[in-house]
Amino acid sequence: MEQAILVLNAGSSSLKFSVFAIAETGELRAVAVGQVEGLGTAPRLRVKDGDGQRIADEQWDKAAVGSHAQALQRVADLLRARYPGGTLAGVGHRVVHGGPDYSAPLRISPSAMAALEAFIPLAPLHQPHNLAAIRAVQEVQPDLPQVACFDTAFHRTQETVGQFYGLPYEYYERGIRRYGFHGLSYEYVAATLPHVAPEIAGGRVVVAHLGSGASMCALHGGRSVGSSMGFTALDGLMMGTRPGNMDPGIVLYLLQQEGLSAQQIEDLLYKRSGLLGLSGVGNDMRVLLASDSPRAALAIDYFVYRINRELGALAAVLGGLDALVFTAGIGENSARIRQLVCRQARWLGIELDDEANETGAPCISRPGSRASAWVVPTNEELMIARHTRELLAL
Ligand code: ADP
Repeated sequence: MEQAILVLNAGSSSLKFSVFAIAETGELRAVAVGQVEGLGTAPRLRVKDGDGQRIADEQWDKAAVGSHAQALQRVADLLRARYPGGTLAGVGHRVVHGGPDYSAPLRISPSAMAALEAFIPLAPLHQPHNLAAIRAVQEVQPDLPQVACFDTAFHRTQETVGQFYGLPYEYYERGIRRYGFHGLSYEYVAATLPHVAPEIAGGRVVVAHLGSGASMCALHGGRSVGSSMGFTALDGLMMGTRPGNMDPGIVLYLLQQEGLSAQQIEDLLYKRSGLLGLSGVGNDMRVLLASDSPRAALAIDYFVYRINRELGALAAVLGGLDALVFTAGIGENSARIRQLVCRQARWLGIELDDEANETGAPCISRPGSRASAWVVPTNEELMIARHTRELLAL
């Protein structure tokens, strides 16, 4: 195999990875995609090749593989055995927070690590794990160049006024601002639109990233001008297990009247709310769509309602709407959710083409529809690999 880039996305108990081969032409081709899940409890590795064929499915002893570094060592051994001629030329990491200033990826150095550590308080549930993966690579192969790609960076083009909260000004200076997330997904979609939908790429577009985490982004001429997520990834749309936008007075009420601790509230907001909490059935949209429980139907209704409220808000930021783009697990795969959203968005001029919607064709609105609707699959890993290739001049 030629030179390759490893892309890592580390969570608290998981390590997702992809390997991209760099062709002579500079083109990137996925040759392996996998994940280690259950780190700390029951670690399990699953890997597929670039065609989706299974390469490995292994259960590991948690005493032997307890850390990101140990998992990475095992993954490296497996990849080396599978691609003996390959050379790893760089590693790109998904790093959730780039703080107020980083609007582009960053090559890892000791000073860069210090800067990224300073953002840990802004994303305590994710940033430490992202940085642990960088350190794990440093342990295994200290000379390998590494790049941090931020979920916040793409939104740094937004107007400053949109990044404020109505708190005393010093809180803004202390970093309490709207950052926005899922930036690598939006950047990928923005880069793809000129190829699949050139007629809308320069216009006013709202992208709905509907996965287990979900948010929306307003693009004007391919640049982010607004986002439904704010200071944390809790804001905006309702998600699989997160509530989305809610009155901050609820947090005070839970603390003062219900006697919940900060830890309990964190658990409620990140793990027990959203589709899961409202339906009582589960957090997987497929399960909810197949369920005949009235609360599953309520959760779906509320999910769609929130999307449409945010769509209205982002259309207002854009001063109108030329197109709505669906992406991520639910957005790419659920014709039903797209149909429900588009029906409610008729007032914005979207006329759904039901047949195109069923097939998931890139354009799912009728010809002549005042605003069009699209399905554009996202690829955050490829975006990270592209950034890594460019920054390291590979
Ligand atoms: P993540 O945010 O974890 O990367 P994804 O973008 O992969 O998530 O989206 C995962 C979610 O997509 C799942 O929770 C599931 O609810 C949803 N999903 C996947 N396929 C379908 C489908 N055919 N219909 C409805 N929902 C789907």
